[in-house]
Amino acid sequence: MATREELVYIDGEFCRKEEAKISVFDHGLLYGDGIFEGIRAYDGYVFKLDEHIDRLFHAACAISLEIPCTREEIKEIVLTCCRKNGIYDGYVRLVVTRGVGDLGLSPKKCPKASVICIAATITLYPPEFYKNGLKVITAVQRRNRATIIDPQIKSLNYLNNILARIEADTRGAPEALMLTEEGMVAECTGDNIFLIKDGCILTPPIHMGILDGITRRTVIELAEKRGYPVKETPFTLYNVYSADEVFLSGTAAELIAVTEIDGRVIGDGTAGPITMELLDAFQDYKKGEGAKI
Ligand code: PMP
Repeated sequence: MATREELVYIDGEFCRKEEAKISVFDHGLLYGDGIFEGIRAYDGYVFKLDEHIDRLFHAACAISLEIPCTREEIKEIVLTCCRKNGIYDGYVRLVVTRGVGDLGLSPKKCPKASVICIAATITLYPPEFYKNGLKVITAVQRRNRATIIDPQIKSLNYLNNILARIEADTRGAPEALMLTEEGMVAECTGDNIFLIKDGCILTPPIHMGILDGITRRTVIELAEKRGYPVKETPFTLYNVYSADEVFLSGTAAELIAVTEIDGRVIGDGTAGPITMELLDAFQDYKKGEGAKI
């Protein structure tokens, strides 16, 4: 069977993957000046597409970036990109860069932002990770302070997260937990964190300096619907180590248990019952949710 040509959207055109290029003078490349979204498609629907587009526009507003398309146009770009690539189950990367400027910092020299959309397949954690949970480490690298670069802005400058991910790679872990400068638990490099203690579900509040994860919001909604109390409250590593269950949430990972952190076994060392119940609830919920491709 002939393989389908992969097409990438850049500024109004679909071009072959090999020819999808941006300028070396784009401030997205030179300075990490831009924003992005990672989005999932499940069974012919783009999951929570409106929420992702809202978050993109809020981030654009926060960095004074004018997206040269309306929300409706962005939605059409994502859906068309999925259709053209035959992606009905997969991963969509939406990127808006500051655009081409000169070597100076000022975005005033960048007259037009660039919009990029890639629809691709996704490599998932192996199924046994969902059954047995992840072994996570705490990074020495602290999460960016919200008063400096707010982690709510899903910007193209992910060096903070990458530095923590390098620590995870070095120590043989698939994810790293990041703390705030004060040492409170923040989030992982690409996932939000939840813990469960005595039937109560805890997750750090957004204002601590974390991404307002769309999966996080969905988990809170599903947990509350099932009658679990959910508290958005600060906590320390002690609370994580002594939790009954810990799990992560994110677009790529969905919900995944953490069974060991920094060599401490969490709960009884298996993916816990409430985590598995919420994962099941998420699997049901995601079917048919979002915008039809
Ligand atoms: N935190 C960070 C730092 C992230 O990059 C992500 C997204 N990969 C998340 C949390 C999870 O957010 P979402 O559920 O919207 O994917």
